[in-house]
Amino acid sequence: MRDWIWVIDNKMRAYGEVDFDQRIVRINKSLHKRNREQLIDTLLHEELHIRYPLLSERGICALTERTLPYVSKSRRSTMYRRLGSKRPVTIGTKALRLPDGELKRFKSKRARDQFARRARARNRT
Ligand SMILES: [Zn+2]
Repeated sequence: MRDWIWVIDNKMRAYGEVDFDQRIVRINKSLHKRNREQLIDTLLHEELHIRYPLLSERGICALTERTLPYVSKSRRSTMYRRLGSKRPVTIGTKALRLPDGELKRFKSKRARDQFARRARARNRT
């Protein structure tokens, strides 16, 4: 789960979607607002897709409904926090996934780590 990135994409038609190849979860926040749909429901739903990739859509929906009441407050806040996080995520040894979902490749691990450190320092507030 650590190398997944959660981005806000308000242009897509779905509430959320999981890209297994790129390890990106996209969440349509404004669609939730428009339809008064629960964001936490979708965040859990997409997380379960990642955890149980072989489970059907129906299975994931049922599991979401059954599990959501038992998700603790701190787990919920972790789930909200990682959505739209400004931290780049390391992919393998020479690449980073930027917060907007773009994959950035580097010539060396050192160059990658240097870039990541600067990006983190920039976003510290
Ligand atoms: Zn689904």
